Amino acid sequence: MTTAARNIAILGSTGSIGRSALSVVGESDGRLRVIGLTAHSRLDDLCAQAKQFQPPWLVVTDADQAAKFDWSEKPAKSQLLYGQDGIETLVGQPEIDVVVAAMVGSVGLRGAWRALEAAKTVALANKETLVMAGPQVMELAKARNAKILPIDSEHSAVFQALQSGRREDVKRVILTASGGPFRERSSQQLAEVTVEDALAHPTWSMGPKITVDSATMMNKALEIIEARWLFDLEPDQIDVVVHPQSIVHSMVEFRDGSVIAQLSPPDMKLPIQYALSYPERWECPSPRLDLTEAMQLDFEPPDEERFPALRLGHEVAAAGGTTGAVLNAANEAAVQSFLDGQIPFTEIVPACRSVLDGHHFEAKPSLEKLIELDGWARQEVTRWVCT
Ligand code: NDP
Ligand code: MG
Repeated sequence: MTTAARNIAILGSTGSIGRSALSVVGESDGRLRVIGLTAHSRLDDLCAQAKQFQPPWLVVTDADQAAKFDWSEKPAKSQLLYGQDGIETLVGQPEIDVVVAAMVGSVGLRGAWRALEAAKTVALANKETLVMAGPQVMELAKARNAKILPIDSEHSAVFQALQSGRREDVKRVILTASGGPFRERSSQQLAEVTVEDALAHPTWSMGPKITVDSATMMNKALEIIEARWLFDLEPDQIDVVVHPQSIVHSMVEFRDGSVIAQLSPPDMKLPIQYALSYPERWECPSPRLDLTEAMQLDFEPPDEERFPALRLGHEVAAAGGTTGAVLNAANEAAVQSFLDGQIPFTEIVPACRSVLDGHHFEAKPSLEKLIELDGWARQEVTRWVCT
């Protein structure tokens, strides 16, 4: 039986996830069709993607870059829109079935929000959306009967493992973490880490922000919070284990002690494709697990002394309210300050801690309040960097 092609829009098509999503489309035998692509600054790449996939819509979020760019290579059939308004217009298009949310940072929230409002399925890579506004986003999805399917590999693994039992029989989820490039470094060695060191991840090839987040283990902190809201778990039902090979992508433990894991070589095309093919499974261009070759799977407890971001993740998952938006924005600003050479690697997490502790907590904030706090936390990091 053939099913109708799924029409997709990719927000952030020029990024690491966006490009992998397009290779999944390219291998999909016409089962996926691109309706819209969006970019911020890499407009040459956007044009090349548009030539290959011929989408009816293109959006450029950086209007200044768009104004300077030579669009003569753009396919005539692709209509150009600008800014966040352009993103919102795109995701509301009636022919779109699935919106791939793959922008980086809190700028991804509005597009995902609008897509859910329009009752689209959201294939979510932008974990910042759920870290900032998890309860609000999940409530909106429920009200509109819209699905959120995880692209983050750990959450895709949990989503898959959950299908082997009843929800009420879940004891806990165990998120795996590669431990990043500095797993074996002492606290003193961590203080000397350069930007180049932090951008060299041992198992995953990703955009710069999430690569630094993996090095501080803030990525795992954000994923604890993401899991809390996406799967409606209690904070103490989420554990983290370090697994350097990144083959076991996460696990679910059921009441009887059975632990169900999802395994595959580290390649984002598999979780991206599953979010786009769900509930079907298709042949996938990712490399396959070869168990005829000797391999070792190691697991060890995380070290919260050297990687204090993890503690922040557990705290914010438990506190909810305004804490996710504040942590997320403080982290984005602190990572940028590190990448700009303004603060050392080991100051990223203390900057987040300081801003989080200094904010005025609200248990049930509005979306507007969260967006306001996003701006406030960034300013606080700037103040922190300057003092
Ligand atoms: P990249 O930095 O590679 O790509 C980011 C994308 O967002 C690009 O298309 C970029 O456009 C666009 N973008 C950047 N700034 C803005 C802005 N201000 N407004 C609108 N669009 C913007 O990131 P990744 O692909 O690595 O990550 C994307 C998301 O997926 C993140 O939330 C990350 O946490 C998550 N994720 C990523 C994984 C990975 O393996 N990479 C794994 C799991 C989750 P341009 O390039 O044109 O400037
Ligand atoms: Mg992940």
